[in-house]
Formats: sequence, structure tokens, C-alpha cells
Amino acid sequence: MAKRLVASKAKSDMSTVRALVILLCLSAPAVHATQPFPLNWPSRLKIPRGEIVELKVYGEGLSSVEAQWAERNLPFYAVAPGLFAAIVGIDLEAKPGVSKITITATNDAGRQRRAETTVQTLSKAFRQESFTVAAGFDQLSPDALELIRIERADFALAFSTPAAERFWEAPFIRPVPQESSSSFGYRRIINGKLRAPHTGADLRAPIGTEVLATNHGRVVLTGNYFFAGQSIVLDHGGGLYTMYFHLSEFKVDAGTMVRRGDVIALSGMSGRVTGPHLHWAARLGNARVDPMGLIEKISIGQSREPGSVVGN
Ligand SMILES: [Zn+2]
Repeated sequence: MAKRLVASKAKSDMSTVRALVILLCLSAPAVHATQPFPLNWPSRLKIPRGEIVELKVYGEGLSSVEAQWAERNLPFYAVAPGLFAAIVGIDLEAKPGVSKITITATNDAGRQRRAETTVQTLSKAFRQESFTVAAGFDQLSPDALELIRIERADFALAFSTPAAERFWEAPFIRPVPQESSSSFGYRRIINGKLRAPHTGADLRAPIGTEVLATNHGRVVLTGNYFFAGQSIVLDHGGGLYTMYFHLSEFKVDAGTMVRRGDVIALSGMSGRVTGPHLHWAARLGNARVDPMGLIEKISIGQSREPGSVVGN
């Protein structure tokens, strides 16, 4: 280029401009270089339906992480310096398949890096039992159908406006001391027809057992319903809800904030049940997930060690 500038005076002006443009073009990427900074994240998550996993993203000096999953925001939370995590939940009736989470990570210097995690939904077999009953045995009256309509509408309303703020922090606790009967996902086939799956864990609590809030949250529903009986729904923020059914007495009012371990109710056998127990359920971003996973798989708000990062 320098040679041409010397050789042709007539072209020199244009050449100079061109040289400058080329120089600017060459230098521009250097100034704004998105030199990818080191980032650790899992490139793939394999999640059986009805389960949750933590998705952890780690990078030195990482200041924020945002993510999109199936056109929804997937909220990430700071766990430790440079470490962010989100909970990913798959609905218990989800079909096996593949989806993508698009992650945008920003560091202290304002640099951004994109990353992608493939979510593979795995099939999972739940317990099924077949029954034959006399035709019309479990037919519901028009009054019952109206009550069921109200029940569905009230729950849909309770789930319609999740608090954006995360109220919860690990660990989650068991709402009653009794063990779960591993009934999550259980389905009955009555007269050859597959019924709706069981969407919670049944804990065999005797009537009058104190029911504790599994974590901090807001009481967004208290009511008495056809199937669920006396029920409470807690909104834990960020799209996470827990539910407590078949209660005998409420100890909190709708609209109040509760802390983990607060007594929110006494257990019972209200609603459509055959015996006393607490039906405990969880919902995460519209996915019905096994609530026991909250106790077993979440470290957000608790872990101060970036040691459990899943490398890419
Ligand atoms: Zn149940």
C-alpha cells in the first residue's frame, strides 16, 4: 500500500483514504474484541420427566447470567463469587425430546459471552395400576363438575402471576416428618382409560400434624376444593410454587409472607381422599415436578463453594 502511495500521486489521496478505512476496519475488532473469557457450563443436561436439576455457570469475575429456554426467561441466581445457577424442571408428562437453553454471561469488564446448553428430556416410567369398575361408578354430578371447574380456575389464577423475586434459599425442608410414599407420577387405568397422573408426593401424616412451609414464600391461595380439599399454595418466586392439600386447619392467611419452617396448617383428609395424608406438590415454570427434588437437588442460596461446577 505504501508503495502505491509513493508511485501514484494522482491516486494517493484515494489510496490514503482507503488505507485509513482498511486500518480502521482492522483496528475496530481489536478495540471491541469479544475475546471469549473462560466460562464453565454444561453443554448438555439430561433430565428425566418430572425431575429438576441445577444448571450452574461459572466464570471468574462473572457479574450476571441471563438465559432463555423455550421462549421463556430462565432466572439465574448468584450462588458464590463468579457462580450462578438456575433450576431447570421438566413436566412429568413431557415427551422425550431436545430443547436449548441460550445463556448470556456478562463479566465485570462488561464483556459478554454466549453459551448454549442442550436439554434432553428423558422418558421415565411411573407406577401404573389397572382397575375395572362398574360403569358409572365414579361418574361426577353436575354440582361436582362445577366445583372442579372452580378448583381449576382458582389454581390457574394462583399460578398466573409468579413473583419475579426469589424468596427461597436452600435448603428446602420436608413439610411433615413422614416419608413420601413414592407416589409421584402414579397413574391409574380405569376400565382401560388412562387417568391423570398423581402430581405430588403423598406423606402419610396423621390428622393434626403440623405442616411447615418448605421454604420462604408468599401464601397465594387458601381454599377448600373438591379434589384437593383444604389447600394452600406458596409462591416462592422465580416461577416456583409448592402446594399442600387435604389439610384440616389453616394457620396462615392468603397474602402473607411465611418463612421456612413456619407452621402454615394442620394436616387432615379433606377433599377426595381415602385416608389422612399430606399431598405435597411443586410447580416450576409451569412444569409439575417431584417436590422431593427440592430437598435433594438444590444448593442455591446455601453453597459458598464453586467446587460443584459441572465443567463443559
Ligand atoms: Zn396425593
